[in-house]
Amino acid sequence: MQINPKYRNNPAFNKALSSHSEVTSAKKMGALGKNTISYSKEDEIAEQYQRKRYKTQAVIQKILSNCAGSWKVIKCGKEKVHKDASVGVQFFPTTQKVSLTNVRMCGLKWLCPVCLEREAQDQKRLVEEMMVFMQKKGYYAHMVTFTAPHKKYDGLKDLITFLKLARKRFFGDRANLKFFSTEFDYVGHITAMEIKYSDQNGWHPHFHTIIFTKKSYSESSLFKLSKRPTFNKTSKGLYQTDHDLGIAEKLSLMWMNACTAVGLRTPDFKHGLDFKRGYDDKEQYSGALINYALKASLSAEIALSQKKTGEFNTESLTPFEIALKAEGEKTIENPDSKYSQLFYEYACATKHNSMVEPSRKLKAFLKENGFYKKLEEKKAEVESNEEPPVHVFDFMDIEWNILREDYKARLKVLSLIRQDIIEQGISASKFPRTDSFLNQLFDRGRGDEIPRS
Ligand SMILES: [Zn+2]
Repeated sequence: MQINPKYRNNPAFNKALSSHSEVTSAKKMGALGKNTISYSKEDEIAEQYQRKRYKTQAVIQKILSNCAGSWKVIKCGKEKVHKDASVGVQFFPTTQKVSLTNVRMCGLKWLCPVCLEREAQDQKRLVEEMMVFMQKKGYYAHMVTFTAPHKKYDGLKDLITFLKLARKRFFGDRANLKFFSTEFDYVGHITAMEIKYSDQNGWHPHFHTIIFTKKSYSESSLFKLSKRPTFNKTSKGLYQTDHDLGIAEKLSLMWMNACTAVGLRTPDFKHGLDFKRGYDDKEQYSGALINYALKASLSAEIALSQKKTGEFNTESLTPFEIALKAEGEKTIENPDSKYSQLFYEYACATKHNSMVEPSRKLKAFLKENGFYKKLEEKKAEVESNEEPPVHVFDFMDIEWNILREDYKARLKVLSLIRQDIIEQGISASKFPRTDSFLNQLFDRGRGDEIPRS
């Protein structure tokens, strides 16, 4: 086995390698010896989802490679970081996973299902830790979803731009600021933007928000109306009412006016802003709250991992489902390439937009109270408890050049390397399954194996 030159010069990695060969390897050999770990049903399911993510990525790469503009996702997972070094494989003893080394990833959450899956884990941890942190500080959380009416032919980019303007007005308008400092004891909020599409109603971007307050509120102080109120219009065309509104109902009216003022269609009083407490009369934080917090940021991933191909909910598609529907379409200029065109529109509209974003006020609050520092410390602690990855395999360039263009073969090889390690142990020098597959791939199945140094 040849060690990637990149790692030869990396003292940290060399340390990891030597500690494995001397100490860890003996321990791991036991754990990884024959029959102790098997290739389980779960592994198989995880690999199915992984294949789907890579398949989607391949379709997206094909769509965008025919579009104007530069799209980093086109080359994601296909280019070397260091040209002169080889592409290798590392094994993570703690998680039992394998991954490629020396390959550049795009890191684009909106456009790349493979990178979203990776980033989503960090995002999930951040949101979870933040919830725990705010809970310990004694603050209360509210789940608020903001939507605005949209029509079939509204452009996505415009909708996002105006929604963001409305959100800015909602949280920043002078009258609203007064409300937030008196009636609703606001500390800050975090937003996740989610985008769906339906043939009937077009694009549906919306915000899932968690708003933190110093106080808790009873249901009866949030909702006072028994029926829909009547509204009058002010000279500026905004809405007001003489009814006695609960706090959540006042927020709904504020959202109606924020949207109207920036030029969006006016949302429905009842459905434009959906407000739920993240606590109840007994519990400060509910499970529903954590689920809500993670729903939006992980929705694309969940959509890809839980639905089987062909099981699309045609009423509402996630962007990655749109991409999958574009598979088999002709080039984007073709009038029939509807889903390719939709995905391109989505790619342009989401550029420079964040997926999950704490408000400036929340960020400042978290920083002042040492949240980010603690998060870093915790991360470092977790990492120090994990066994470092072990470099187990190197591809020859001739192999990599084929694998980089063929995601199915790439995934197959990674799976086989993992299976070989499970059977042979972490310090395996032979990879029978892997070599056999690579030989087949190169049509050298007549016994003459590729020489490996
Ligand atoms: Zn990527």
